[in-house]
Formats: sequence, structure tokens, C-alpha cells
Amino acid sequence: MNKELTLNDIPAGKSCAIVKVNGYGGFRHRILEMGFIKGAHVEVIKNAPLEDPVEYKILDSHVSLRRSEAKQIEVVDISDYNTEYEDFFGGTIDEEAEPIIHSDTKTINVALVGNPNCGKTSFFNFATGAHEKVGNYGGVTVGAKVGVFKRKGYTVNLVDLPGTYSITEYSPEELYVRQQLLDESPDVVLNVLDASNLERNLFLTTQIIDMNFKTVAALNMFDEFETSGNQLDYKYLGEMLGIPFVPTVAYKGTGINEVIDTIIDVYEDKNKTAKHIHINYGNTIENSLDKIKQKLRVNKTIDDKYHLHYIALKLLQNEAITIDFIKKIANNFEDIQKVTESEQKVVFSEYKEDIETVITNLKYGFIRGALKETFVSTKVIKEVDKTTKIDNILTNKWLGFPILILFLYIMFQATFTLGAYPQDWIEMGVEQLGTLISENIPSGLLNDFLVDGVIAGVGGVIVFLPNILILFFFISLMEDTGYMARATFILDKLMHKIGLHGRSFIPLLTGFGCSVPAIMSCRTLENKKDRILTMLIISFMSCSAKLPVYLLLVAVFFTKYQGLVLLSIYLIGMLIAIIVALLLKNTVFRKESEQFVLELPPYRKPTIRNTSMHMWAKSVQYLKKMGSVILIASAIIWFLSYFPTQDAEILKYDEQIAQLETEKAGNEEAVNSQIEELVLERNAVHQKQSYIGKIGRFVAPVVEPLGFDWKMSVCILTGFAAKETAVSTMGILYHSEDEEDSLIEKIHEEKYTEGNKKGEKVFTPLVGFSFIIFVLLYSPCVAAVVACRKEFNRFWAIVLAVYTTAVAWLVSFLVYQIGSLF
Ligand code: GDP
Ligand code: MG
Repeated sequence: MNKELTLNDIPAGKSCAIVKVNGYGGFRHRILEMGFIKGAHVEVIKNAPLEDPVEYKILDSHVSLRRSEAKQIEVVDISDYNTEYEDFFGGTIDEEAEPIIHSDTKTINVALVGNPNCGKTSFFNFATGAHEKVGNYGGVTVGAKVGVFKRKGYTVNLVDLPGTYSITEYSPEELYVRQQLLDESPDVVLNVLDASNLERNLFLTTQIIDMNFKTVAALNMFDEFETSGNQLDYKYLGEMLGIPFVPTVAYKGTGINEVIDTIIDVYEDKNKTAKHIHINYGNTIENSLDKIKQKLRVNKTIDDKYHLHYIALKLLQNEAITIDFIKKIANNFEDIQKVTESEQKVVFSEYKEDIETVITNLKYGFIRGALKETFVSTKVIKEVDKTTKIDNILTNKWLGFPILILFLYIMFQATFTLGAYPQDWIEMGVEQLGTLISENIPSGLLNDFLVDGVIAGVGGVIVFLPNILILFFFISLMEDTGYMARATFILDKLMHKIGLHGRSFIPLLTGFGCSVPAIMSCRTLENKKDRILTMLIISFMSCSAKLPVYLLLVAVFFTKYQGLVLLSIYLIGMLIAIIVALLLKNTVFRKESEQFVLELPPYRKPTIRNTSMHMWAKSVQYLKKMGSVILIASAIIWFLSYFPTQDAEILKYDEQIAQLETEKAGNEEAVNSQIEELVLERNAVHQKQSYIGKIGRFVAPVVEPLGFDWKMSVCILTGFAAKETAVSTMGILYHSEDEEDSLIEKIHEEKYTEGNKKGEKVFTPLVGFSFIIFVLLYSPCVAAVVACRKEFNRFWAIVLAVYTTAVAWLVSFLVYQIGSLF
């Protein structure tokens, strides 16, 4: 007999029917819940540019599977598959289900549950006025976000949860959602559904039904559903499932109030549709469940707190955490276990398949049964759908990579050129503020502090606000359109090669914004090694706080190709990340990377609301940082660079200057220039003798082989507080003969005042580049290290800070030393 045909053997453009899913654990589970079940039709859309992974269409969604994964799925030609789907609708009103009793208060706790990317956070933001991050790909929300609002005398606590395809124990998000539901037991579950992908979205709904929660469903993306021309009798569907359905367009806010009113109705038991439905899994399984329930019922605690039907079902499915839980609280655990095991055998002998597959098939059968009576697909032979059409270009074999690179190039070039204008205006404003202060406040300590400390420090950084906003505008554009998920699709093979999980992509991507949420989103990786490996390379994804440093130095040394230089800095970061990941993969973290099913969401038009919210949130965040960390750091740096003022050497200069002042008569010009020189020298000495000078010069020998002077070593130290502080520090420490010079000119003019390099310029292009590389690679800022300690532990936080700094030193050393040879 021939080898079984697998999904991997089917060429692009063809369809097939699934007969069996092999594999194990999380992967198998994930793929089943996404609808890869017996009899389902799959269309092969196309290969990624590097031939792997492959895009498939199942139900109404596009997913990407690696070839190794597709090999696990046995298929046949559609025409060979003649057994019909077993559709049934086996819902009955559950008489014995007593809804979990909640105290009748004026507070309603609502949990938002739904598939990834169905619009939960959009709903949450609209309902609560929050600004949580929304993006057109899964995995954006990590952890629970709580929002509170009032309606009709009720206080509603709305909890936004990460998206899941089902609620089990196979992935951290699912476990998390499961725990939130079972432990916090919300008064009402709000199930958000993507209306244009109902079949798969309802899978999760069947699990919520099993758990016996009061539920309201938001039929979201209703705008897309309507344009598709399909018809759904959602009232009837709701009656069949015992769940009121309300159409919504979350990102526009349509239907949100109706949903909330329905939630209140359901909470008050006034809604006619809301009933508890019992999904009938057929005689064999129902009998088994009854037998297990009998054993469970002996325990009063379980009976009171949990829905027995659900617990029995989970026991039958062999769910480890349920077994553990029952073991802890049931006094007849052995009895329960015995019955469960014998019932599992009964089910197996009936279905000849593992129970997981059986239940999944039955649930999908139930859904199809319900949809058969309510859903009409306008099977007007749609020409290829819009998403596939766009994908034909964006993920095209030849065009995929060039387009990605072109897009990145445009993004960085725009960051520079478009940013330049507003940057000029802000710079002018800052300058004028400086003049205003120096003219109106008597010269002295306060004047110096405000002009040389605060304005030089904060002003030096604030000018980069427009550039950062532009960068975020582009990132938001990529996220909201769905292009981000395509970038993952294109790059997946490379990620795989360096031992990274496809999912590591999301933390890494977040890293371009800020390392703190990026380190937090490592949570979504199941495997500890994946989590650590990803965390360790996140900081090489250049975060937006480093951008001011690059922008400043690139502007000093490059007048042309600035966008390209900027792009190359980011690429170098990624390259180092790849090298480090490869090294770690082949030494400490030796293992196979895990399987991952990536969903490719449909392309969506970015909304002004979303984009402006992104940028607004970013501006607020940036300005807050200016007003806190950067301001305080600038003040400290200024104080440390100003004191002590009474140094013998400085006094000597002061005397000399005073002396010259008296000799001015007759020879004013010559003396004045002499004085100017002396003042400069005096200031240099003053700075050197200051506390910060002492600290800087103490550290300087360490960074000297990298081409840095002591002021740069100070920048590196202060940059640890927040990366932008490195720029503030330059603003405070670098001076030039002409006080009117911009920071760029000051840096350009800076010369050594002592040592064997005396008189030479401090910043050559090579030094500048070496410094950029150092800033790119060295330890992430305090906030990120603290986040790492919280998410992992102290050990890994220290490792992270130390090893990245070591890598930075090494690479800068190589750059500077090798570059010096030419
Ligand atoms: P979550 O992952 O479930 O939290 O989903 P998000 O709230 O992050 O939204 C996912 C994507 O769908 C975003 O790009 C939203 O702008 C978009 N979106 C949300 N609601 C709707 C809707 O009702 N209609 C359409 N067309 N797009 C929506
Ligand atoms: Mg979300």
C-alpha cells in the first residue's frame, strides 16, 4: 500500500479533505480546535517565499503551517471522501443546571472571552474608554485588563482576556483564561465572536456552554459579515444555544450599548433567550458522564461550586489539572478515577478514536447542526477573496522579501525626512525658551541649572518626539492592516532555523517598541526554554528609546542615505540576535523548536481612531517619561557635573581670567580671544574635576578600547536609567565655543583637551558608529531589567544585564579596532 497522503503533498491551489490528524500534545489540540477535523476541507493557498511554511484555508480562516506540521495531517482527495459529515443538533434545555449563584449586588463582573483577533480589546476600549493595545493579529493582549464603567445603576467590571481558540490546559493563555473563569467566576461571560468565521468561533462557545456560565454573545465584525452577503438568523441561533446574540462593530462602537444592556438583562434573569443548554454528546458519552457525575456528587463542595457536567467531561477527557483538582478535594478520588478510566475505555471501543478527537468532532457536529438551520452562505462563486488577492502580491515568492525590505526602508527614511520639520520647530522652541530664561533669570546657579541642566537635558530628547511618532505610525499601520502576520509568515523559516518558536515573533516585534511589554509577552510561550531564549534576545530588537541616540549621531555623520543607515542599525541588531540565538541553541538550549499554528487574519483597513490612539498613547508615554525619569536624571547629571565648584585648579584659571580682564585696554580683540580660550579650558577642567568627571574618568579605561571618551562612558551609565538619557547627558556635557550651536554641532566640534589625543576630534565617524553599536546592544534599561526579574527571576535579570553589556563591548571593540586599521 502507498504511503498515506498528507496535507504536505497537496500542491498550492488544490483542496482536499482531512481523514486524520496525527501528532500529539499542544499542537494536535490546537489544530483540532481550529477546525482541522475529520471531513473538513482544506484549501492549499500558497507556499511562503522560502517554501516553508504553507498557507492554508480552513473554515473561513487562513492559517500558516510548517511543512513538518502539515505532514501530520492525513488527507484524501475531496471526491474520494464520501462519508458525509455527521451533523446533528443535540441541544436540550439543561434542567439540572443550577446557575452558579452570585450575590445579588449592583456590581456585575463580566469576562471578555473569544478567539484571538475577534475584537475583544476594541470592544473593551470602547466600553470602558481605555486605550489598550489593539492589533490585527493574535497574541496582542497578555494578562487581564480590568475596566470599570457604570450603566443603569450598575457598576460593570469588564475584564479583557487574551484570545483563545478553546479553554483547556494546553497553552498558557488557555490555562489563564480557564483559571480566570473558574476561580474568579464572572457573573456574565461576554463571548465575542468574529461573525465572518462563525463555525470556528462557536467552538469556544460550546465550551462556555459546558461550563454553565450566563453568557451573552457579541456578533462582532458584523460590518464584514454584511458585506460578505451571507445571512444569519442570529435570533434563532441564540435561542438554540440559549445565548442572546447582539451584532456589533466594535471598533466603531456600534452595538456596544445593546450588548451591555443585554448583559444587565441576563444578570437580572430577565432575558428570554438566555437558558442553559445541555450539549448532547450522544448516548455513549452521556451515559459515561452520568456515571462519573454520580461519583462526583458525593462531594458537596464540588457540587456547590462547580458545574458537575463540566468536571465530568474534563475528567473523561483526561485533563490533568482537573484530575489534580479533584484529587485534592474529593474524598472518593480513587473511586472517581476508576469509573473514569473504565468509561474512557467504553468510549474508545465505541468510537475507535481518542476521546479528545471524539469530543472535538462532536462539538463541530453540534455547531454545524445549529448553523445548518440558521446560516445561509451566498455561495455566489466569489472571485478569489480580497485577502488572497492582496497576499498574491505581498507574500509572493519573488516579491515577498523585497516588499518587506522596501517597506522598512520607507519607514526609516520617513522617520528621518518627515521628522526633520517638526523637529526643527521644537528645536527652535527649546532654544527660545533657553534664551528667555537666560535673559530673565539672573545668571547664577538657578540660571545654569535651568539652561544647562533641564533645557539641555530634556530639550535634547524632546526634539525626537515627532520621529518616534512617525515610527509608531508605521508600526501601527503594519499591525492594523494585518501585514505584521504576513511578515511572520515570510520570516518563519528563518526563525525556525535559529531555534525560535514562531510565536517568539510577537515578543520580538513588541521589542521594537519597548522591551518591557516585550519581556512580559514572553509569557505566551509555552516552553520555558523558548521563553528564556526569546527574552535574552529581545533587547537586541532596538527599542524606540534608543532611536534618539541613533538619530542624533546619524545626523552628525551622515548627510545622505540616513534612512538606509538607520535601517542597517536595526538589521545589525537583528543579526546579533540571530548569532546569539544560534549560539545558545547549539549550546545551552539544545532542543527542537515547537510547533505553532499561526493565523493570518484578513486584511483590514487601518482606522484613524486606532492609529491616532496608538500615537496619542505613545506621545503621552513619551512626555511622561520626559517629565519624570529624564528630568530627574538630567537634574542629577547636571548637579554632578556642576559641583564641586571650588577647585584649586579652577581658581587658578579664574585668577588668570580676572587678570586678563584688567589688561584689556588697548588690545581688546587679542585679549578677548585669549579669555575665550581660557574660559573653555577652565570649563573643561571644571567638568573633569566635577563628580561626574571623576565617575566618568574612573570608568573611561574600560571603554577606551572602544574609542570612547569619558563623557561617553557617562552617557552609557546614565542610559541605563532610560536610553534617551544618553542624549540628555550629551546635551549637558558637550559644550562648544559658540553656545548657540545645536547639539549636533557641539558633538561635531568636541575635541580632546588632554592626553595623547589632545586637539583631535572626539567623534570620528568610526567612534560614532562604535558608540551606536554599543547603545544598540548593551543592557536594557532599568525598567526592562526589573520586568525581567518579575517575569523570570533575579538570576535571569542579572544575566540579561551583564551578558548584553558584554556582547556590546565585544562588538564595539571589534568595530573600533578593525575600523581603526583602515
Ligand atoms: P482582540 O485580539 O480580540 O483583542 O482583537 P482587537 O480588538 O485587537 O481587534 C483585532 C482587529 O480587528 C483590529 O485590527 C481591529 O481594528 C479590528 N476590528 C475590531 N472590531 C472590528 C469590527 O467590528 N469590524 C471590523 N471590520 N474590524 C474590527
Ligand atoms: Mg486583545
